[in-house]
Amino acid sequence: MKRIEYRHLPTTRTHPVGANESLYDNAMANLDRALALLDREIPHDWAAKLRTPKERTELRLSPQLSDGRIHTFRAFIVKHNDALGPCKGGIRMSPTVTLDDVTALAMEMTWKCALIGVPFGGGKSGIVADPTRLKPDDKQVLIRSFTRTAHRHIHPLVYVPAPDMGTNETDMGYIKDAISYSLGYATTQGSYVTGKPVILGGIPGRREATGRGVALAVAEVLRRRGDSLPGAHVIVQGFGNVGSVAARALAEAGASIIGVCDAYAAFYDARGLPLEALLSYAAQHGSLKGCRAAPTVAHAQLLEKPCDILVPAATGNQITGSNASRIKARYIAEGANGPTTPQADRILQRRGIEVIPDILCNAGGVFVSYLEYTQETQAEQMPLEEVMSRLERRMRERCALVFDTARDRRWTAREAAMYCAVKAVWQALQARGALP
Ligand code: GLU
Repeated sequence: MKRIEYRHLPTTRTHPVGANESLYDNAMANLDRALALLDREIPHDWAAKLRTPKERTELRLSPQLSDGRIHTFRAFIVKHNDALGPCKGGIRMSPTVTLDDVTALAMEMTWKCALIGVPFGGGKSGIVADPTRLKPDDKQVLIRSFTRTAHRHIHPLVYVPAPDMGTNETDMGYIKDAISYSLGYATTQGSYVTGKPVILGGIPGRREATGRGVALAVAEVLRRRGDSLPGAHVIVQGFGNVGSVAARALAEAGASIIGVCDAYAAFYDARGLPLEALLSYAAQHGSLKGCRAAPTVAHAQLLEKPCDILVPAATGNQITGSNASRIKARYIAEGANGPTTPQADRILQRRGIEVIPDILCNAGGVFVSYLEYTQETQAEQMPLEEVMSRLERRMRERCALVFDTARDRRWTAREAAMYCAVKAVWQALQARGALP
């Protein structure tokens, strides 16, 4: 395969890719690369519109928690681009999340929504707090405090949040309740938030959608390559909403799960792990901490064990310039957002490892969020079979688009995915016209 030289547009600032890579640097480097590929198609003065977020807001939340004291938390909302529709993207709750991370993740949502073909722009929120250290009642108070403080940003036609790392379905239910309460209606007209409990207008299958989508993307890409999923050896990094569901779906398709980990424990057995035992332990205890169902391994080693498919489904910047040369997978399916750095991408490309990029691989979540948004707008309830068949069809179509483009242009799948996504957003911007 032809080696692609990375080059950057001369009129736009380039972002260094080096040892201290951040989600923001990596997102900008990926965009620079797409803009270089679109060099003749997008005038340089328009490129700035794609690079900079439309709005970046920092909020201060100061709820009174169960200890009777006022606690102060920082929160962020970024609306990156709304050319294709209202901004869509989850709320990340983490003690380390920064405004730049949220900006990068909002930008990724712009490309993801465009690529998977839903009428949304890209947005994201962050709350700087450790969800594992908050009592459930305090987390509820914090989510309600965020909803109240961010109220003017959250609207079906402006920004529609969803779960992301550190937040879940229950939290989305509290957001819906807090909004209905402030509007004075029992329910809301239109979808203010997705990923809610089904009883509150959520959609069946949303919780599993991202992980199922990862498995569908893997199946489709292997099929195109003439590789078989039954019997393939899989390592999954991350055992939360994405990783555990992807592991189960891949195992159901006949793959053998030989490695899994979460933040607390890592397990590896080349003959296959007892997945059901690990899943039920995690369901019961909230994590794999203390689980003795399988042989353990050091976290750093797990990623480097030989396998057919490696699914990074934990957090960003896991496959980097320092470990990419030791990865022994044939495929990398990005369940997480931004798990592979641009430097690692170049090493993986040289080594012939196929990366199914995040904006395609984990887009099943936002696709099913879109189904939830449309069903709620029409006050309907979509059955699970319909959700799953639409998810499957869409993942297959968009995998075909990305991998056909990659094959025809001799690009990596990430380059092809970014090219298609950025081009769609650019076309929407152009169709809107250049007036302020
Ligand atoms: N947080 C998820 C993501 O990064 C889902 C976003 C959504 O459904 O709006 O894709």
